[in-house]
Parts: sequence; structure tokens; C-alpha cells
Amino acid sequence: MSQFNVLNRYLFDDAHARGELVQLSTSYQSIIKNHNYPTAVQELLGELLAATCLLTATLKFEGDITVQLQGDGPIGYMSVNGDNNQQMRGIAKIANEAEASSASGLNALVGKGTMIITIRPKKGEAYQGVVALTEDNLADCLAHYFETSEQIPTKVWLFSDTEQQQVAGALVQLLPDGDGSSINKEKHQEDFQHLCQLTNTIKADEIFSLTAEALLYRLYHQEKVQLFDPQAVTYVCGCSEEKCLAAIAQIEPSEIKAILAEQGKISMTCDYCITTYNFDELSLQSFISKVSH
Ligand SMILES: [Zn+2]
Repeated sequence: MSQFNVLNRYLFDDAHARGELVQLSTSYQSIIKNHNYPTAVQELLGELLAATCLLTATLKFEGDITVQLQGDGPIGYMSVNGDNNQQMRGIAKIANEAEASSASGLNALVGKGTMIITIRPKKGEAYQGVVALTEDNLADCLAHYFETSEQIPTKVWLFSDTEQQQVAGALVQLLPDGDGSSINKEKHQEDFQHLCQLTNTIKADEIFSLTAEALLYRLYHQEKVQLFDPQAVTYVCGCSEEKCLAAIAQIEPSEIKAILAEQGKISMTCDYCITTYNFDELSLQSFISKVSH
């Protein structure tokens, strides 16, 4: 089995288009372990992870992107968050365990719903894009998002292998128009369609086993492809004792005292990685001392 956790970006020199390839194994396994998700939920969360990697790779500034799926289906909510350094985390909240175990596919799992994409630059205002889940697969929904919110012709391919617990994805996207002349536009569209046809021939066993160089050669050996340095994709939850304490600081001191009196400690469990943080009276002294004065 491959041990890829890598994102590759490339330019098609003669086609006014760009591409991305993401191949994930252990970073994906870290996200699903400890959660006991049904197989179809693992699969969809994996696809959402690969999709979010492809999306964060389009960030032109420091920041992070959260992609959420929300609907009336057996999965109430699913979310993956990643930043420009490809540090990823993700979670699924299951509304109906029995139905989620027997459902499969985007529509059956999420139901009538939306994909909400929140982009948070480190500097500046966050913004949000919402698209209805009109297609029955995440790849087409993401392409639809690019077409509607950014008006950039884009095609996305997603692959998941629940047995080996690996996921992968590819993206082909036209670059924004240069001089915008109609002759160029037509040629760009033809080139884009041609690249999509070539990319359509990727097979799952290839994307899960070949290196980026080998895969790009296999798909585009007649094109001029400029491959940039690969970027590592890692699983980083981001929860910490400090963040828990910051949350506890928002609770009324009298209430903190009451919880401590009843339970002897305050426990907080991270939804993403299931780590539990415990705080006893001693460690919360600075919060409750306010109340005794
Ligand atoms: Zn965590």
C-alpha cells in the first residue's frame, strides 16, 4: 500500500490551464480513527477531505477553508477544515446511525442539502459560498461551486478506497482569461475539454499507486506539464489545553464552582480527535478565585 500524503500542483504550459493531484493515506486514517463511522460515511468524509485539499490549494493567501455538508439525511453534518499549509481535520455528525449504515452516496447520506464553503484569510474578512447539492457526487458539486462562485471552468475527480483507507483527487481548471478575445476563449475551452478527456482515463489503482510524475506522464505525456514542488498534507487537529481553558474562561465563575462541586472536574472532549481534557479545582483556581472575593 502507498504511503502518500501529498498535494501536487502543475501548469499545462500550452493550454492556459492548471491541475492538482492529491493522494492521502495516513492523514485520512487519522481523521476517521476512533470514530467508528459506517463505511459509507468514511468514504464520503474521505472524499470531502480530498476535495478540501484541492480547494485549499487554490488559496492565494494565508488562511483556511472549511467545507461543510448539511442536509436532512442520515448525516446531519459533515465538515473538513484545512489551511494553506495543508493541515487538515474533519468530522461527521451522524443524525441517524441505522440509516447512515445502510445508505451510500452523497444524496442518500446528506439528503436534500447544501455545501457551505467558508474561506477565512488570516488578514481580512471571511467570506462564504453556498451551493445546493444538486449532483449525486461531491466531485461535480465542487466543480459546480467553482463555476458558479468563481466563474472558472473546473473539473474534479475523487477516489476513495475504504478497504486500504486511502483517498485521492485530481482537478483541472482553466486559468482566468488573459486578453479575453473570443478566438482565445474558444481555444481555451477546447484545450480544457481535451485535458478533461485525458484526466477522465485515470483509474483508481493508478492514482493510489503511482507517483505524481508517473501519473502525469501516463495521462499527459503529449502535453507540456510544469510540475511544482510537492506539498505535504498532514492531519492537525488544533485543539489544546489552552483553547479549552479559553472556553472555560467564558463560563460564569459560580457555574464553574457548581460543576466542580458536582463532578470534581470539568471535562472537555474534542469533537474532531476525541481527546478529553480534564481540569480539576487546582488547575481552575484562577477562574474561581474571582467568586470567593
Ligand atoms: Zn482535537
